[in-house]
Amino acid sequence: MLIKPNAVVAIHYTLTDNEGAVLDSSTGKQPLTYLHGSGNIIPGLERALDGKKAGDKLAASIEPQDGYGEIIEEMIQVVPRTTFPEDAVIEIGTRFSAQTERGPLTVVVTNMDDGQITVDGNHPLAGETLNFDVCVETVRAATDEELQHGHVHGAGGHHH
Ligand code: ZN
Repeated sequence: MLIKPNAVVAIHYTLTDNEGAVLDSSTGKQPLTYLHGSGNIIPGLERALDGKKAGDKLAASIEPQDGYGEIIEEMIQVVPRTTFPEDAVIEIGTRFSAQTERGPLTVVVTNMDDGQITVDGNHPLAGETLNFDVCVETVRAATDEELQHGHVHGAGGHHH
């Protein structure tokens, strides 16, 4: 069957940035399995896969607005070290969950300077052009339960 909304799709992929550095890959792992048309994956990749079938290979270059979005400056904040518990280990690269007006958000420490800590709540791939090399492994119809839940169950998917 062709990939269309409500298809369960398994893909192998390699994701590189514009400099050719590999950012992510399913090579040597289970294929990525997702429910097509449900926003389980970034919009640009979902669009590139639409209408493809098992065995198809494709390359898609996805701009930030169809990927993880542009970098939002307001999501980068400088806060005093005293905001954090004294015994908290804080280093560049430390991730933690921050409470925001829009709910919990994972932020990463990107700079530390003189008692001031810079935290960034953007997605790590925000602002990046994403170059995907994809091979479609399998395509099947979703079960009723999967459609109700909006995600895939079983191997390679979410299980509960
Ligand atoms: Zn479920």
